[in-house]
Amino acid sequence: MLAFDFSFVVVLQVGAGVALLTGLWLFYDRRDRLFYDRTRRRTTYHCLKCSRVYTAEPHSALIPCPRCGQPNPRLHF
Ligand SMILES: [Zn+2]
Repeated sequence: MLAFDFSFVVVLQVGAGVALLTGLWLFYDRRDRLFYDRTRRRTTYHCLKCSRVYTAEPHSALIPCPRCGQPNPRLHF
């Protein structure tokens, strides 16, 4: 039978807790960074036909309006 010292068990539990919290921190930090990057890369467009303002990822010069389908260029300020 294995006999562990009480302090070794406490250190092992604290280490497991720290490892768990570090893993959760890294997971949620990565998830939030990916979400922020995805929303940051979106570009604002203004429909010239129905005046709707919408956002989309800029994969081409003209993005169709989600309401009427009119292709619109990027909104410039
Ligand atoms: Zn439109």
